[in-house]
Amino acid sequence: MKIARLKTEIVNLPADEPLGDSPENPNATRPIVILEMATDDGIEGIGVSFFGGPMTGALRQAVDELGALTIGEDPSRPERIAIKLREALGTSVLGGPFTLAYSAVDMALWDMRAKALGVPLWKLLGGARDRVPTYASGALMRGLSDDQVVTSARKLVERGFRQMKTQLALPGDTSPQREVARARLVREAVGPDITLMCDINQRWRPEQAIDIGRRVEDVNFFWLEDVTTADDFAGLARVTAALKTPIAGGEYVYGIVPFRHMLEARSVDIPMIDLVRVGGITQWLKVAGMAEAFNLPVVSHLIPEVHVHLIAAVPNGLTVEYMPWLRRLFQTVPMPVNGELVLPTAPGLGLAFDRDAIKKFKA
Ligand SMILES: [Mg+2]
Repeated sequence: MKIARLKTEIVNLPADEPLGDSPENPNATRPIVILEMATDDGIEGIGVSFFGGPMTGALRQAVDELGALTIGEDPSRPERIAIKLREALGTSVLGGPFTLAYSAVDMALWDMRAKALGVPLWKLLGGARDRVPTYASGALMRGLSDDQVVTSARKLVERGFRQMKTQLALPGDTSPQREVARARLVREAVGPDITLMCDINQRWRPEQAIDIGRRVEDVNFFWLEDVTTADDFAGLARVTAALKTPIAGGEYVYGIVPFRHMLEARSVDIPMIDLVRVGGITQWLKVAGMAEAFNLPVVSHLIPEVHVHLIAAVPNGLTVEYMPWLRRLFQTVPMPVNGELVLPTAPGLGLAFDRDAIKKFKA
């Protein structure tokens, strides 16, 4: 089994918000690089990458060039391929574009590997559970008005979600009092039994996080996420030590090394691993293992269609972020039912690109 060919495309997916019907920017799009690889005996694998913004063309080029270096290699050996690519690229591998591009390749390798073995990926990787909790994300954003956020929050509850995430660090003229009022408003809209998370997206200083975090303790957030600059490991540790509410973080960092610093410094209670920025499935699993050794759960960021496999595979997977940016790319995807995702039984990722959608949204 050798990698024989690959193809990439860019698709501009609509930035819609199907969970609560409340998009922050209704006319925006998200550029996604898609990758299809195939072996000489006809096994196909798929990968995706994004975060390229206006550099998405360069990201696609990077996926093409890295992918070309895998031709003739055995996709069951992702670590061997990673070594070859790192050696080929020398010191340029540290940083964004290599890691973002390599993630798409690594995803496709694992898809092919699991298909060659005839097993769904989550089973190949450990198979800890065959269903996992999931939470609605992207529907209760800080840019919505109070009325919009309440309407959207009630819809999520009506639609069966048991866990959901909102945001603080409100835009414009805000204050600790205004932040607390918004947090209480969302809690009242969903009721006391819903697991409610809250994302700050790095917008507070550590002392603000401690101040506002203490004021919202009675809102009973399940976690506060990215409360300050993502690589301020000491600042994060100060907030984590000061608050009763657990602190989540990790989606913004690249590769596995920052997680070591984060865990050693006890910067977060709940490491969040982004499949694309961490460098693919191979690297994602290493971070999950590090966290397990520190007695910590892990959570995912975006791409629930792939992350569902990873959270279910490992013993310390906590919940899957259901933020369906990519849903239109695929023919069928695991859908949340009563707050859970059931793992697919098809070999590999169990995903196939929807050719009609790709044609429609092709850049
Ligand atoms: Mg986040």
